[in-house]
Amino acid sequence: MKRSIGLMLFALLFSVCARAAELPAMSEAEKERIRVIVKEAIREYAASLNDKQQVSSGAKDILREISQSNRNFMRTHGPAHFGHFAASQHPRATVVTCSDSRVHTHALDATPDGDLFMVRNIGNQIATAEGSVEYGVHHLHTPLLLIVGHVACGAIQAAAGDYSKESPSIQRELDTIQIPKGDAGLNSVKLNVNNQVRLAMSKFEQEVIGGHLSVVGAVYDFKNEMRQGQGKLNIVNVNGETNGEKIAKLDLMQGLDKPAAKPAVRHAPVRKAPAKAVEEAASDQEKPVEKPINHKEGH
Ligand SMILES: [Zn+2]
Repeated sequence: MKRSIGLMLFALLFSVCARAAELPAMSEAEKERIRVIVKEAIREYAASLNDKQQVSSGAKDILREISQSNRNFMRTHGPAHFGHFAASQHPRATVVTCSDSRVHTHALDATPDGDLFMVRNIGNQIATAEGSVEYGVHHLHTPLLLIVGHVACGAIQAAAGDYSKESPSIQRELDTIQIPKGDAGLNSVKLNVNNQVRLAMSKFEQEVIGGHLSVVGAVYDFKNEMRQGQGKLNIVNVNGETNGEKIAKLDLMQGLDKPAAKPAVRHAPVRKAPAKAVEEAASDQEKPVEKPINHKEGH
C-alpha cells in the first residue's frame, strides 16, 4: 500500500515536473525552481521510508557483517599498525585496477595499508580517474604506476558489445575503452591495459624519461586463462614494451620471484594483540558466516 502511494507520488511529481518544462511562458529560472522543489520532495519521501519500511535487499545483514569484520580488524590491529601512516601517507605504488569485486589488494600486497595508492573504476582506466592517478604520481611521487586489468572483465565485455542502452554515466566510462567490437576476451583485456599504459606514458612522459616513474601493465588472472597459475599477476607491459622475452630481460623484472622485504621503517612490527582478543577473533572466524544474500557474479 505504502509502495503504491509512493509510486503515485513519484508519478505525480514527475508529471508536474514534465508539464513545467513544457510551459513556454515559464522562464528557465522558474522551471529550475520547480525541478528543485520536486527533487527535494522526492528526497524527503525517500528518507521517510527509513522509518516505515523494512530495509531491502539484505542491506542490514551486509552492514552487520562489515561492522563485525571491522571490529575484528580493530581487535587484531593495535596502535602500532597505524603508527607509520597515521600522520601522512607515503605509498610505494599508484595502482589502477578495475572495481570488480574479485580483484583486491591482498592479491598484490599482504599489508597494503600505507603502501598502495588505489584508484579503482570500471575497466581500470586512466581517463575516467585522471586526477586521482595524477595525485599518486605528482603529489605522492610513487615510483611505480601499476595498471591492473583482469580476466572476465565485465567492463571489457560491455565495451566490446552494444552498450547504447546503458545510462549516460556508464556509457561515458565505457567510451574510453578502445577495443574492437565483438572481442570480449583476454586479447581485449590486454589491449585495454596496453592502451592505459600508453596513455599514462604520454601523461607522465617527463617522469618516465627522467627515471622517476615506471609504468607497468598487468593482468590479474583468477581463472588461470593465461596458464601461469590461478591468481597470478601477469606483467604484460613495462613502459610500453609488450614483448614477453624483452620484458623478461629488463632490469625491473630481475628477481621478481625472490621474496622482497619491505623497508623496516615503513612497517613497524604489528603489536601483538591480547590473547583474549586473538581468541575472540579466531572464534569469530570459525563461526559459519551467514550470507543470505545472492552475490551476483561479475559486475
Ligand atoms: Zn573489470
